[in-house]
Amino acid sequence: MSSNWFVSMAYFIAAVVFILGLKAMSSPVTARRGIVWAGFAMIGATVVTFFMPGLHNVGLIVTAIVLGGGVAWWSGKTVKMTDMPQMVAIYNGMGGGAAAAIAGVELVRGAAHDGITSTLMALGAIIGAVAFSGSCVAFAKLQGIMKKAIRLPAQNNVNFFLALATFGVGLTVSYSAQPSGFEVFIFFVLALALGTVLVMPIGGADMPVVISLLNAFTGLAVGFEGFVLGNPALIVAGIVVGASGTLLTQLMAKAMNRPIKNIIFAPLTGAAAEGEGEAIEGTMKEFSALDAASVMRYASKVVIVPGYGMAVAGAQHKVWEMAQLLEEAGVEVVFAIHPVAGRMPGHMNVLLAEAGVPYDKIFDLEEINADFPQADVALVIGANDVVNPVARTDKSSPIYGMPILNVDMAHNVIVVKRGKGAGYSGIENALFYKDNCRMLYGSAQQAIGEVITHVKALEA
Ligand code: NDP
Repeated sequence: MSSNWFVSMAYFIAAVVFILGLKAMSSPVTARRGIVWAGFAMIGATVVTFFMPGLHNVGLIVTAIVLGGGVAWWSGKTVKMTDMPQMVAIYNGMGGGAAAAIAGVELVRGAAHDGITSTLMALGAIIGAVAFSGSCVAFAKLQGIMKKAIRLPAQNNVNFFLALATFGVGLTVSYSAQPSGFEVFIFFVLALALGTVLVMPIGGADMPVVISLLNAFTGLAVGFEGFVLGNPALIVAGIVVGASGTLLTQLMAKAMNRPIKNIIFAPLTGAAAEGEGEAIEGTMKEFSALDAASVMRYASKVVIVPGYGMAVAGAQHKVWEMAQLLEEAGVEVVFAIHPVAGRMPGHMNVLLAEAGVPYDKIFDLEEINADFPQADVALVIGANDVVNPVARTDKSSPIYGMPILNVDMAHNVIVVKRGKGAGYSGIENALFYKDNCRMLYGSAQQAIGEVITHVKALEA
């Protein structure tokens, strides 16, 4: 049995386990198991690579794995739940960067390649570099170290000519037998600049979609470089990530009612990009924890809408405790999740599952929106953009056209937040000024804690 055969078989098994793991991740019940399977498959594929005939630089490879693995282990252990989106963005960028680096090494080596391989190498390099620099920009925005949307003058022209130059130089370099180091350097500078300018103007409700698009790019780049190296493990991993990322991007774009081409080529401009919109009339009316407890305790149906603020406060356990108390008092309590609530796809589902909320109490936007007019109370906890009615009415708003949870149609709306802080898109929320809306000020953890105390006192 040759070692080549052994490595190929091991790659095949790893690919099958990886795909089964991915399948298991499609349900919250089996997701944890799926992650473990996929992780073991990756470790297996990495280990058998050392048995490949003619492998060089083993010391360097081990050093890179130990350093990279060490940093990943430490950051995975220490990252706060609320910082997960940034971490996902930057890890995704690393995948794209790694694919681009492989292409860079192949280009500098000047190994003779046929036409198809040269084209795939150039495409992998461009897409990988774009995913890398684009993900770094997304990381900076999510981390709050960069402005949400920065639009250059004649942005679309800049994008077009930069893309043209990048593809032109890339294909020339990859078809030449021995490109100079300087040519390869210029090629990567162009590709990295392209990723940066593409993501810079994108903000607000488009961010989640662009993150999953960059994820798809990374998969594609890895797959292309897998073909260049003739490595089946890279091909399979790249295709799976590319395909699932593309599907997720399409689903997110559909949920946000924003065609992908509009997100990239027509990010919102002018007043919208600045987060300005039509003036909102009315006043914000404050509510006490006792008032909130009484209204919910004697309601028939309460719909809870969690958002980013609940995640920051880590209030999911308290929220579920309150929901259980209300249920014991005969109130029907359900949870409504917006597709981009929080800062990463599935953010709220993960938090609620962690707190033990049963899946049959959690409803997606399309499932729950028609129920709001029958709800006595919509309790909004640290959510803002995803419940902002200007998305339905104000064409100059950066979130115009985004489907929102129709909480304003409930009989009463109670909003838990600390003060007058805006949401991710940076705009005012017309909901807070509506006649049926009351503000319960405080950090979610503390405010819901007080509501729990009062609900218990009402029961006693
Ligand atoms: P938002 O970001 O719109 O609003 C969060 C609100 O929470 C703020 O207004 C803030 O107000 C409040 N808040 C902050 N800390 C606390 C706290 N400790 N206790 C109580 N409230 C708090 O959140 P949404 O979930 O409604 O919307 C998500 C936004 O993020 C969308 O614009 C989406 O496009 C964007 N986004 C989503 C991603 C995803 O994949 N899900 C990825 C990237 C961006 P105050 O300061 O007054 O307390």
